[in-house]
Amino acid sequence: MSFTRLETADLKGKTALVRVDFNVPRNDDGTISDDTRIRSTLPTIQYLQDKGAKIVLLSHFGRPKGEPNPEMSLRFIVPTLEKISGKTVTFIERPNADAVAALDQDAIVLVENTRFSTMETEGDPKMAQFLASLGDLFVMDAFSASHRNHVSSAVIGEYLPSFAGLAMERELDHLAAALDHPQTPVMAIVGGAKVSTKIDLLENLVSRLDTLVIGGGMANTFLFAQGHDVGASLCEKDLKAKALDIMAAAEKENCRIILPVDVVAATEFKAHAESRVCGLDDVAPHEMILDAGPDTVSAILDAMDASNTLIWNGPLGAFELTPFETSTVECAKYAAKLCRKDDIIAVAGGGDTVAALALANVLDDFTFISTAGGAFLEWMEGKVLPGVEILKPKP
Ligand code: AMP
Repeated sequence: MSFTRLETADLKGKTALVRVDFNVPRNDDGTISDDTRIRSTLPTIQYLQDKGAKIVLLSHFGRPKGEPNPEMSLRFIVPTLEKISGKTVTFIERPNADAVAALDQDAIVLVENTRFSTMETEGDPKMAQFLASLGDLFVMDAFSASHRNHVSSAVIGEYLPSFAGLAMERELDHLAAALDHPQTPVMAIVGGAKVSTKIDLLENLVSRLDTLVIGGGMANTFLFAQGHDVGASLCEKDLKAKALDIMAAAEKENCRIILPVDVVAATEFKAHAESRVCGLDDVAPHEMILDAGPDTVSAILDAMDASNTLIWNGPLGAFELTPFETSTVECAKYAAKLCRKDDIIAVAGGGDTVAALALANVLDDFTFISTAGGAFLEWMEGKVLPGVEILKPKP
């Protein structure tokens, strides 16, 4: 993955258009419930200011469907950004070159929600050219938006010299180290609810991994395909052929697949539901598999011992419901222990995965955890991400 780094940019006296991700979660009263995404922009903001660049921040918020919507205005970001950066931030509803030029060189401007126009999501070149005319260079610092071919995350880069921001650079370097040129053997844990949302990802991974653990609800479809009776478990029976194809492809590619060898079966999909550990052929018709059993966990830990790189997306069980987080938490804690000893490089990502790893209290131990949802999945699928593509050195 070659991309242009910010350290190569000439910044003094220039204006940088910086794509950030201020699509932060909010409480019912409108306050920000998690400011991680705002904090993650600070290194790039600081760097640009230190090097003498004026900063124009671009971001989307929510899905306003191409129309101005006061409830989705980005104005609410300003106080938090000012507080955590210690700098003054100027909010501009409708940017124009004169207004930006009139500001001091140390100004930080936040432009209104880019999705207030349909041109943004359509990747309209006119909007891209207009935004490009406000500055001298484009800095992409929102990996989480890089899978969209939108104006502010990719198309604008066609009209300006483009660079990866520092958060983006960190993310791309870690992802490349995990999948593009990993320290082998490399394994992945792919869990979560459904196979249907992760077919592309599984197909891409089997050609690149030594070991693939399939867990969570999606493992049930594979177990069913192998002829096991999964009772009342979540199972996409129509994907039996696909599951068999994936297993055949894995065999051809020499990728070992680890499926559950024992399971935790419960009578209800709720916390503290009556449950028991049982073998694969012992699930009663009214029972559902909600977690992997202890023998499966042992097999996963052994695989981690034998691996140098681990990529993780998706929980191994219904982790929101106690005690069905057990296998996810045990595996996460073991991976964290190996990370602390520098015995493994562990990279994880995806919305539910971050929540599951937070529950296991391992967020600080993993080598890298991506908070990008869709972009992380598309990267695991091996897709071209437009917001990364645009950062390739231009001829
Ligand atoms: P995903 O968004 O695809 O990563 O899926 C995450 C969801 O999968 C979580 O809400 C889990 O509760 C759910 N999940 C994991 N294992 C199971 C299972 N065995 N049965 C039902 N849901 C599960």
